[in-house]
Order: sequence, then structure tokens, then C-alpha cells
Amino acid sequence: MSVSNPYGWITQSLQTLHRANWYRQVQTIDGQGGPTVSLAGKPYLNFASNDYLGLAGDPRLAAAATAAIAAYGTGSTGSRLLSGHRPIHRELEQALAQLKGTDDALVFSSGYLANLGTLAALVDHRDVIMADRYNHSSLQTGARLSGAALAVYDHNNIEQLQRHLADQRHQYRRCVIVTDSVFSMDGDLCPLPEILALAERWDAMVMVDEAHGTGVLGDTGGGAVELLGCRHHPMVQVGTLSKALGSLGGYVTGSAELIDFLRNRAATWVYTTGLSPADAAAARAAIAILTQEPERLTQLTANADYLRQRLDTLANIDRLPSNSPIVCIQVKDAATVLKLGQHLKHQGIFAAAVRPPTVPTSRLRMTIMATHSQQDIEQLVQAVGTFMAEG
Ligand code: PMP
Repeated sequence: MSVSNPYGWITQSLQTLHRANWYRQVQTIDGQGGPTVSLAGKPYLNFASNDYLGLAGDPRLAAAATAAIAAYGTGSTGSRLLSGHRPIHRELEQALAQLKGTDDALVFSSGYLANLGTLAALVDHRDVIMADRYNHSSLQTGARLSGAALAVYDHNNIEQLQRHLADQRHQYRRCVIVTDSVFSMDGDLCPLPEILALAERWDAMVMVDEAHGTGVLGDTGGGAVELLGCRHHPMVQVGTLSKALGSLGGYVTGSAELIDFLRNRAATWVYTTGLSPADAAAARAAIAILTQEPERLTQLTANADYLRQRLDTLANIDRLPSNSPIVCIQVKDAATVLKLGQHLKHQGIFAAAVRPPTVPTSRLRMTIMATHSQQDIEQLVQAVGTFMAEG
């Protein structure tokens, strides 16, 4: 028998990734992640961050995290049901429930884990998940983990969702319609009122991922659910503490019974160590700032509007629809988007060149922060404009 290498396929897979321009690697940011960042000692305008409100570097979050470490230690030392629960966890959960206008909330160690654990707790092989094709990876993986049947509908295609419900709902015990509220790689919103109406008609639950909505949309930062006037509908809202709230961790909000059930049945919460006290305290401080300083949210909205307006004045731009601080322009292929990313980098701008398989088509993804100045945005638009003009 010839000697084989059971790991040889990894070399081949990496070669395939390189050939397709799909290969990715980390870039080191030297210091904090504000509107300007330092990469290898050089300053760049930062349009690649999810720190929408500019809170990740806020000294008040750092002070809250430090105080929590002094009070509770660096690690929470166990799962929440054993030795890992501290008063700061409960305070954060109550603040989240208030922000989202729900009975209660549960914090997880990341948004990814919140999504996996919640979906797998809500449904199993007797049930069906109806999911938007562009849902975040965590929702797609959670759907597979749950063992439920999966009916995918084209992005925001309500007619197709309705057909799936009419054709399949009766074959299953429970049904959950799962969607991002703000699509993370596009920046558009789901048609939540229509989805909720269908759910009511077909006796289905709705799970909506507010990772890019919470702290970003709605009059009080309550998310797309608030913006779209859906706060009082029963539903399962999930999200993250790692974007507008400047920390780390995930959450679920909803009825008191839903949260009580998840505390008993969500494996990614029950069997993992509780969120660190520092992360919990930083997120708690961020919610307080969001409430006390509504001007941050107003500025974020104004900055995103300004970027969209300015991009739309450029020739040869294929901008994707956006109602959020995520603004994307489509380019023809992976090689071109990499070139655009490099061009921007030469101009001192850091923005994400996003390629398949993360997204179906290559695009430049720009994220706006409340702390960007108009001049920062102008510089981005000029740099994109020169690349597009050169064709
Ligand atoms: N859902 C969406 C829509 C996201 O964009 C992300 C993060 N990229 C997550 C969930 C996961 O959140 P976390 O980073 O807290 O794991």
C-alpha cells in the first residue's frame, strides 16, 4: 500500500482558494478601532468596522469593564446555571429587555452562539425552518444543527415565502421564519411587517436577527423592529453586543416564557461558560450611553444618508439598496473588488472587499460610524470615484 497523506487535501483546498481569489487573511490593527485606525504604523480612515456608534473605544465602557473585573474577576468561572452568574449579567439582561421593549432577555457568549442555541432549542426534526437565502452564517448553521427541515426563500421574496408556507406548513409540527433584520453583507432590511402577518396566518414563529439593527435603527436604537413599528408583536429577537454596543457577546429577547425556556434548553448557553463580567459591564454601559446621548444615533443616520447621496452622484456605480449604515457597491468580480480595495488602501482608506463564498457577488462593503466626519466620507467618495472613472 502506498503511503498516503490524509491531510494532503488541505494543500489542494488552499490552492483552490488562491486560484479563485477567495483566499483571506487577517490584517493587524495596531490600536483601537475608531474612525481612523493604524495598520502597520500607517493611519487609515476606517470604513470596515461594526462599531457603529464609536463606543468600542469609549473610556466609559473601559471604566465599566475595569470596575467589573475588580468586583467579579476576569472570568465568570463556570456556566451561568452553576458558578458563572453575576449581578452584572442580570443588570445587562434587564437593560437589553428595556431597550428592545420585551419582557426579558438572555445574554450568550457571542451572537453566533445565541443564534445556534436558540434555533436548535426552538425546532427539531419534526419542524420546518423558512429562511431568507441571505441570512447570516450563524442562522444557516443553526438551521442545520437543529435538524429541522429547511425551506429557503429568495432574498426578501415574500411571495415565495408564502408559497413555501402554503405548500409545506401543514406537514410539520412547528414552523419558524428566520431572517436577518438588516442584511449584514447588503445593508437592506427585511419586510418584517409582511413576514409577521404571514406568520400569524400560518401559525409560525418569527426569529429576527438584529445584530446590525440594535443601537443603529429606530428612534431609541431599539432596532429595525422598532423602526418598522413591530415592537409589540410576539417574536424571537436575537442580536449581538459586539457591534453598536462596542463589547462582545450575544443576546435573545422576547417573552418571559421564551427566555425561561432557553435558560433550560439552549445548549450553547447551558453548557458554556458565562459571558465575562468585563464584556457584560461594557455592554451595559453602552446601553446607558445610547439612551443618554441620542445624538450619536442621529449622527449615524445622517452620515449613512450622506454617504449614499454622495455615492449616487458618481458615474458607473452599482450601489445596492441600503437602509442602514452598511453601504455596498457591486463590482464585476473578485479580482476587481480586490483591486478596488488596494486602490482605497493606497489612498489611506480601509474598507472591506467582500467576495464569494461570503456573498453571491463581489462588492465593496463600507460601514459608517457616528464618529466619521463629513470630510472622512468625502475622502472615501473621492477615492471610489477615481477608481470607477479609471474603469
Ligand atoms: N448575526 C449577524 C447578522 C452578524 O452579522 C453577526 C456578526 N458578524 C452575528 C450574527 C454574530 O455575532 P457575533 O459577532 O456576536 O458572534
